[in-house]
Amino acid sequence: MTRTTPPRPVDIAQVFPELREHTLVATRLHPRPGAPTVNDSSVGGPLLWPADEPWPMCDASSHDTATLLRPQTVRRRRAILGAAWARTRRGEPLQITDEERAALPDTDASEPHYLARQPIAMVPVAQLYRRDVPGLTTDLLQVLWCPLDHDDLEYCPRILLRRRRAADVTTVLQDPPEPVVVNDDYLPEPCVVHPEQVREYQYADLLPPGLAGRIREWDEDDLYFGALSVASGWKVGGFANWNLSDPRPMDCEECGTAMRLLLRVDSAEWDGEGSWRPVEDADNGEFLSLQSPSTPTAVVIGRGYSLWIFTCPVSDDHPHRTAMQ
Ligand SMILES: [Zn+2]
Ligand SMILES: [Zn+2]
Repeated sequence: MTRTTPPRPVDIAQVFPELREHTLVATRLHPRPGAPTVNDSSVGGPLLWPADEPWPMCDASSHDTATLLRPQTVRRRRAILGAAWARTRRGEPLQITDEERAALPDTDASEPHYLARQPIAMVPVAQLYRRDVPGLTTDLLQVLWCPLDHDDLEYCPRILLRRRRAADVTTVLQDPPEPVVVNDDYLPEPCVVHPEQVREYQYADLLPPGLAGRIREWDEDDLYFGALSVASGWKVGGFANWNLSDPRPMDCEECGTAMRLLLRVDSAEWDGEGSWRPVEDADNGEFLSLQSPSTPTAVVIGRGYSLWIFTCPVSDDHPHRTAMQ
């Protein structure tokens, strides 16, 4: 099924033609739970990874060890809660049976902290083929992360980007290693994606001040931030929001060039206002709850924020940067 963003409430470029100089096309990924293969673009799905290439491990000494869970514990918990949610869609109340309650892992408990002091296998976050996501610099982009908080990275997972040509992978790694422990917010559910291109406009504070001021004056209903400028949910390209801090320059540490947004990892695909909820999901009422239509990936960044990954337009070899907003 395709996913279609509803028309924007206003064609803002008609109202402010100068915005045509501050616009980009982004690709919303619209991840939804599924069973992607290594040959599909996906979020949290299996990667087309060469059998003879070592799987990346994170040996950072900066792992924050608040709550550590084994991946199988996280999956068992999600399966039980997911079944309970599925029953509500058949009209039953949200209730967990005694049997389910007995099987539900205690997520307040943590595995021992020493487990995070050993190398942690990174987990697949996204695999994107250029045939699905126009504008990628390579045939295949793979995004992995270390699924723990890193206290030197704004308490975010550590990102690894791998770019390759699919045709170069002749023998695919069958059973990639799994991390011993994870932060459950960073273990994405396997999702297929439904890429859709949408038009975005620069974050208001980064527009020329005169234009931004006129938009603010016009914007009685606060539409620009929430519904007109930057798309909600997981997306490739376009602009970043800076709603937790003032915008800070994202310049390449290698060459000083202004970086571009590569990927937004979002905690929800749409918020309560529902402006960015695809028309195909209009009947799915509830939001912001585990396994709900708006949180298909189960990834949570901070208190429901986004992780923004920026890359250098000069060279893919220059290091990426991230921001949590
Ligand atoms: Zn790590
Ligand atoms: Zn650079």
